Amino acid sequence: MTTTPPKKASAAVQARRVLVLNSGSSSVKYQLLDMNDRSRLAIGLVERIGETTSRLLHTPLTGGDAETRERTGRIADHAAALKAAAEELAADGLGLDSPELAAIGHRVVHGGLRFTEPTVVTDEVLKEIERLVPVAPLHNPANITGIRTAQAMRPDLPQVAVFDTAFHTTMPEYAARYAIDVETADAHRIRRYGFHGTSHAYVSRKAAELLGRTPEEVNVIVLHLGNGASASAVAGGRCVETSMGLTPLEGLVMGTRSGDIDPAVTFHLKRVAGMSTDEIDVLLNKKSGLVGLCGDNDMREIRRRIDEGDERAALAFDIYVHRLKKYIGAYSAVLGRVDAVVFTAGVGENSAPVREAAIAGLEELGLVVDAGLNAVRSGEPRLISPNYARVAVAVVPTDEELEIADQTFALVGRAESAGQEMPVGQVDN
Ligand code: ADP
Repeated sequence: MTTTPPKKASAAVQARRVLVLNSGSSSVKYQLLDMNDRSRLAIGLVERIGETTSRLLHTPLTGGDAETRERTGRIADHAAALKAAAEELAADGLGLDSPELAAIGHRVVHGGLRFTEPTVVTDEVLKEIERLVPVAPLHNPANITGIRTAQAMRPDLPQVAVFDTAFHTTMPEYAARYAIDVETADAHRIRRYGFHGTSHAYVSRKAAELLGRTPEEVNVIVLHLGNGASASAVAGGRCVETSMGLTPLEGLVMGTRSGDIDPAVTFHLKRVAGMSTDEIDVLLNKKSGLVGLCGDNDMREIRRRIDEGDERAALAFDIYVHRLKKYIGAYSAVLGRVDAVVFTAGVGENSAPVREAAIAGLEELGLVVDAGLNAVRSGEPRLISPNYARVAVAVVPTDEELEIADQTFALVGRAESAGQEMPVGQVDN
């Protein structure tokens, strides 16, 4: 193993660009940001890595018209994906060999209890992320591959891991523990970790800003409703409860995941239906939720079917909304005082019917949606409750990449101010 000599943080920090990488099992999403004004220089996506139908979509954002370029044909692995992305960036004069690149920020899904903050990746950190693979088998391996690939490409640069779980590590023990045998739980690190933390952190902060208050002054419920979905209760800027657990399966009804379910359903499926553990895993993670209930997981399609009188789609919608309401009620009780309920991510930002239905009937909790405001389409944070409402209801578009870039850049900057040497990646793994 070759260890690159440490690099002075000061050298890195005069550079003000950050590359953000979100590596999934068969995809890599990337964004290059200029931290002078936090603008995007380019965004891109490589999907279906390893298949013959791989595709790269790259959009430079430095010129006037943002024109997306497409590459098709097999991209064998993550290394090839990053190389292809780097070529596209280089074609726009944004090559990753540029001295202006300060750091690479990586989304890492599971940081367990150890990682409560963004962390510069060292060999030891990578080993710990690897140790967490059993609790994040679908995500952490891809994140590790992304980090190793980026290290090989720029071994001189700090690689920063930003964890989906980190924001939730402030949850009190009584919210994080399952009521199961303590020794068994501890031996296998079974507890509620929560996910989408980068989004919950960003959105809860933005919501405070929208209310003209500091995060410390407000209590908010954040509903991150994408294909995966989670709720969180944030008191004075700190997460006190969230709906996802040991894995992202717990909680709300999602696009393809069941969310909360009696664990005995799994014993039943095994003993009575004769299903294997892997089959049950696939059933609950990939074939349940909206797709399991009605065959579609896209809320637009579900609404279209409801408009045509489709009863299965209507029932799926009602189950989805009922679960949301239960969480809003529960988190109102957990927080005691709620200043805002905030919708975000694909469904939360775009589906007025979901927002309306989730809040309907909650007047006793101080929650009301104004139909006119709810119907407005906008990419900006906005209130959808009337002025007289006791609790604000808001839509705040999430921006996980910007949050990762901010956290990455701040970490590199702190090291610079402290005159520390940044550990940089190790190659030859
Ligand atoms: P991911 O969890 O994959 O990041 P997103 O946050 O992008 O997901 O959310 C994707 C989901 O958002 C889609 O599956 C769809 O249900 C929903 N969605 C996207 N656009 C709209 C829209 N205009 N109206 C309603 N739902 C939408």
